[in-house]
Amino acid sequence: MANTRAYAASSPTSGLAPYSFDRRELRPDDVAIEIDYCGVCHSDLHTVENDWGGSQYPVVPGHEIIGRVTAVGQDVTRYQPGDLVGVGCMVDSCRTCSACDSGLEQYCIEGSTMTYGSLDRHDGTVTHGGYSEKIVVSDRFVVRVPENLDPASAAPLLCAGITTYSPLKHFKVGKGHKVGVLGMGGLGHMGVKLAKAMGAEVTIFTRSESKVAEAKKQGADHVIISTDKAQMKAAADSFDFLLDTIPVAHDLNPYLKCLKYDGTHILVGLLTPVEPALQAGLLVTKRRVVAGSLIGGMPETQEMLDFCAEHNITCDVEMLDIRNINEAYERLKKSDVKYRFVIDMDTLKQ
Ligand code: NDP
Ligand code: ZN
Repeated sequence: MANTRAYAASSPTSGLAPYSFDRRELRPDDVAIEIDYCGVCHSDLHTVENDWGGSQYPVVPGHEIIGRVTAVGQDVTRYQPGDLVGVGCMVDSCRTCSACDSGLEQYCIEGSTMTYGSLDRHDGTVTHGGYSEKIVVSDRFVVRVPENLDPASAAPLLCAGITTYSPLKHFKVGKGHKVGVLGMGGLGHMGVKLAKAMGAEVTIFTRSESKVAEAKKQGADHVIISTDKAQMKAAADSFDFLLDTIPVAHDLNPYLKCLKYDGTHILVGLLTPVEPALQAGLLVTKRRVVAGSLIGGMPETQEMLDFCAEHNITCDVEMLDIRNINEAYERLKKSDVKYRFVIDMDTLKQ
């Protein structure tokens, strides 16, 4: 496919700059998408700065993609040109293992192909993400975006939305449950909205006094300032679930104390490693569980979008001119985003 304009990082310290490359020609099951909007996830920043190791440069980040179909391969029947569609964190998987068979492609036993920084299973090229004009993706990894959702503020649902929806559904969070969400950023503010829509009583744990009023506006029933020892102590033994979106290594022990017996602490923030060590006694004496969860499978991603359309849920976004992406990353590092940057891809073409 024609040359594609994009933004890429060429090293962990380069920042992002204009870059162009060729998207592949359509395979029989491919969908070509002109990208309108792409969210800026903290994972983009982790990858650009090589926080997890193994980043493949140049990195074209972006996995919260919404756009319109421009062409489809000969075998595609589910989509046609003009459809509003989304692409999230994955673009392929083995499709035959037990996880893929169950629609849990994110847990593909061979490892799923991520939207950027992975090796394409067919041609071995490195995948490039949504900070670009166009993308070509196999139809299994494309979802339909309900037309009643505002596409710019729906873009972050493709990662922040599904990553919080999936564990809440897996653990059957609902009416009668007390849920704490740790960190009010892109994932955290979606965790509040989704847990609330599922019927739970929701508390946000934040370090930022400045976010209290907005947390309440987004539906949080209570706010705990996590740096206030007295507030943390008062919350002891009171939560059924904690959804932890904090993006850096942090001490889990003070949070574990806030769980009731049989409570579950769900990690979605990709911190490495968990430090300091977990106090085993906090788990053993109350049968508490520490769990983790990775995005969500393709059927569940569609289910989440339909749930959001039904409940009128989108993200709170700050629209971003892609030329300001490096400043945006600096603000993301300072947790100074309300609550997700979304790139208007028209700004790439100016
Ligand atoms: P954001 O930066 O938007 O939000 C993270 C929030 O955590 C901040 O707003 C802040 O909230 C809080 N926080 C930040 N630094 C600290 C700190 N040092 N100590 C305590 N709290 C802190 O990030 P995202 O929501 O985009 O992503 C969160 C994490 O989830 C990242 O690690 C990302 O890679 C990961 N992720 C995981 C996925 C999965 O599948 N499991 C998928 C997508 C992302 P406050 O100001 O309220 O304290
Ligand atoms: Zn993400």
